[in-house]
Order: sequence, then structure tokens, then C-alpha cells
Amino acid sequence: MEFKVDPNAADVKKALSEGKKYRIIYERNACIGAAACAAVFDKRWEMASDNKADLKGGAEKGNGIWQADIDDIEFEDVKTSGDVCPVNVIHVFKLETGEKII
Ligand code: SF4
Repeated sequence: MEFKVDPNAADVKKALSEGKKYRIIYERNACIGAAACAAVFDKRWEMASDNKADLKGGAEKGNGIWQADIDDIEFEDVKTSGDVCPVNVIHVFKLETGEKII
């Protein structure tokens, strides 16, 4: 699925004003339960009883899509969790520009 982040959207501007720098978009329905994300960054990823990862601190946006805005401190670990996901269901965008990092 293709996702976009609009730097001019009201929710993005609000997140930026709160010091957030990046947005995680997670396709939970497509998670295959490999647990790689939780192994590299358990602060954000936790395996649930249905053998899919939960995005800790995230909000469900419908259709199994979860979202969380994060600051610089978490960025490298979140990026690594996206890099190790074998089915690429963890996406990260830069809020300021809308650039897709992974
Ligand atoms: S690494 Fe990907 S497939 Fe594995 S649990 Fe995490 S989100 Fe799901």
C-alpha cells in the first residue's frame, strides 16, 4: 500500500509544533509475526496474542493501519525496526518534508 504524509496537513503541523520529527505508519494486518521489530526496539514494538506486532503508543487509523509520531531520539531505532521487517509493513516519513525514509 502507498502512503503519503502531507507536511501542510494540520495534524502534521501540530506534531511538528510538539517537537515530533517523523511518522511511523504500520500496516498491522500484513504483519507476519516475524518479531524482528520487537527484537531490535521493544520500546515501540511488542508481540500480541494474535502473533502480530503492536505499535506501542500508536493510534489506529482504520483498516489495521497504525500511526505514531516520534522525535529524533527514537528515529534510528525505529528505522532499524523497519529495515529488519521482512515484509516491509513499517514505514517512516519525515514530517517536515513528507519524505519517505523507509
Ligand atoms: S518485523 Fe514486520 S512482520 Fe515481523 S513482527 Fe514486526 S512488523 Fe510484523
